Amino acid sequence: MDEILKIEAVKKYFPIYKGIFRKHSADVKAVDGITLSLKKGETLGLVGESGCGKSTLGRVIIRLYELTAGKIFFQGHDFSLLKGKELRGIRRDIQMIFQDPYASLDPRMTIGQIIMEPMKVHGIGNKESRMELAKELLEEVGLKASLINRYPHEFSGGQRQRISIARTIALKPKFVIADEPVSALDVSIQAQVLNLMQDLQDKLGLTYLFISHDLSVVEHLCGRIAVMYLGKIVEIADRDLLFINMLHPYTQSLIAAIPQFGIGKGKGMKALSGEVPSPIKPPRGCAFHPRCPKKMAVCSEKTPELTVPDKSKNQQVACWLYE
Ligand code: SF4
Repeated sequence: MDEILKIEAVKKYFPIYKGIFRKHSADVKAVDGITLSLKKGETLGLVGESGCGKSTLGRVIIRLYELTAGKIFFQGHDFSLLKGKELRGIRRDIQMIFQDPYASLDPRMTIGQIIMEPMKVHGIGNKESRMELAKELLEEVGLKASLINRYPHEFSGGQRQRISIARTIALKPKFVIADEPVSALDVSIQAQVLNLMQDLQDKLGLTYLFISHDLSVVEHLCGRIAVMYLGKIVEIADRDLLFINMLHPYTQSLIAAIPQFGIGKGKGMKALSGEVPSPIKPPRGCAFHPRCPKKMAVCSEKTPELTVPDKSKNQQVACWLYE
């Protein structure tokens, strides 16, 4: 498979200013040096608790947020610094599905107008052809074309997320960032939306970055999984490998918390305790050490880098246990 997206040492810090002179006093280190790549057609899951920086990373990749440092390549082209027309050109290929289908659809627009909007912005077709395409897209996501003149409030949460997905694929993107796309939905509807995303991937050859706090959701859709903690990737591996041989104590705790995978409890894995520390002043050394049941003296002194403990496996982990 060809590489479609690559990010190198990406950082996103949000500055904090204090006093009447607005002196720069600290930074919220939401994303703190992440390197990742995705192959065409794959789905990479990005998991971690709320406040770990997953959504910020998604927004940095699509350039809704400016980078503090690092580079982003799409199909080999560095677009970290592109602006205006050139950036808009790339945005046609990279789209985002947002978490809340209630907030992401303009209540004053009909669903037809919502789906046609990106086509209009990018100058695609005329009014009639856009309307035809919007109807086709509605059918594609499992809704009747005859509903095109209805308003978002007339639809359920699952139907609204289908409308969001229709808008997302309107420009025929190559890469889609799905930011918690099912977490606002009823559990009974989640599987339907996940199945739709899977079908569209097969049909349109999409590549997904699937962001979720819920490992059991990610497990259904993703071929590889990256685990994020306090702005950094702490483990990344093929899905099957991760679920049978999770190495990082944080990953072990996340998996131990899933009822159907509570396998690890027998291996001494414990569910997480405590909260994610502040990204303004992350703990020294391994940021997970205040919560880690396996911490050692070195853990609060030095920060572990991602390494490959077993060269025969597609798995990287940042933990002193494997150095
Ligand atoms: Fe735990 Fe140390 Fe590994 Fe961090 S480096 S996860 S504190 S054992």
